[in-house]
Order: sequence, then C-alpha cells, then structure tokens
Amino acid sequence: MASVLVVEDDQFVRSALIRHLSEASHTVRSVGTALEALREVAQVGFDVVILDLGLPDLDGAEALKMLRGVTDVPVIIATARDDEAEIIRLLNDGADDYLTKPFSVDHLSARMSAVLRRSRALGAEPPSRVIRVGGLAIDPLRRQAELDGAELDLTRREFDLLAFLAGRPGVVVARRELLAEVWQQSYGDDQTIDVHLSWLRRKLGETAAKPRYLHTLRGVGVKLEPPQ
Ligand code: CA
Repeated sequence: MASVLVVEDDQFVRSALIRHLSEASHTVRSVGTALEALREVAQVGFDVVILDLGLPDLDGAEALKMLRGVTDVPVIIATARDDEAEIIRLLNDGADDYLTKPFSVDHLSARMSAVLRRSRALGAEPPSRVIRVGGLAIDPLRRQAELDGAELDLTRREFDLLAFLAGRPGVVVARRELLAEVWQQSYGDDQTIDVHLSWLRRKLGETAAKPRYLHTLRGVGVKLEPPQ
C-alpha cells in the first residue's frame, strides 16, 4: 500500500487510474496540472508520483525538473509518446521509470512495486522532504533553513512564514491567507505580517526595494520565487 499522486489532465484516464489504484488499496490523490502537482508534493509526502507528460500548463520535462527541485519522491512517467530519446533524457533528468500509454493496470502496479521496493531499500529513514527554491533549502521536519549553504537563524514565526511561501514558489499569497495559515488567525493587523516579512528579508540579505526572493505586491499579497 502506498500513497500515490496521479498527475493527469485526461479525466477518463484519471478516474480509471484512481479507481484501479484505490481497489489495490493505495491512497490516491490526483491533480490535472503540473503546478498543482508542485503544490501537492510540497505539502504532502507521497510514496510515488505518476506523471503524465502531456499536461496543459507545463511541458513534461519542465514539470519533472520542477518536481525534482522540491522533492526526491519516485516519479513514474506516463507517456503517450514512444520516443526513446526523450524517455532516456527524462530518466537522466530524475524520472525513476516510465510507461508508454496505453498501459494496463497490472503493468503499472508492477512498475510501482519495483520503484517502491527500490526507494524503500535505500534506507529506513524517511525520505527527505527538503523544499528547494533557488539557493534556499528548507527542511520542515528538522525546522532548518539554509541560504546558499549557510544556515539561517530564524525565529519560529519567520521559519513558518518562509516555509509556507517556499512551499508555493511563484504563487502570490494573500495577506489574509498568511494570517490564517501562519498565524492561525482569521483576522489581524497587516503590520504584523509586514514586520515579520521585513525581519525575514533582512535575514535573507535583501530589502523591499531590492527584492531577490520575497516580492510584495501592494494590495495583493506576497510571493517567494527564485531570484531572476
Ligand atoms: Ca495529458
């Protein structure tokens, strides 16, 4: 039994996969775009990801690269393209295995078991769920954060704020959402957020006028993304 993330935009393929994997007593979550997949893996620990290459928002190779930027979870590529050169490139880029569509559920199950056996054999220790954005590396389990290899000395709130934003790279988060998620408050003072953001900025070695990672969009919210 494994927890599986299915990334597939075709509704028909998606529901068939969910049904068969659930019948095989796996826990399944599914999304239809690469960006949703990134958000999911940053928040939930999966045992394996099944990634369709033909997604509406990002090219499959690009999606894989971004996934690899945030997680070491095993990825099985599901591709309609029978293109050997591309498959080899993806395996080199961090895919663990691949299946060419259409594939049978038995075939998928066999590949999944093999990938899971391999990743479980790698060690009893839980897989690393370090979030990486540019030179930032954030380990939510150990509550440690590094910038360009140097450990950051953050307060609890600063860490929570950084980890929350880094879990959604490039996504503008509204202040209200930050209050609810980081401060667990349904309403509050915008200033609280601004003050913590400015402390966090200083520790990241940047300023509001010259942002690198933290970008404030006036009246909208805040986003964290790798420096351009
Ligand atoms: Ca597709």
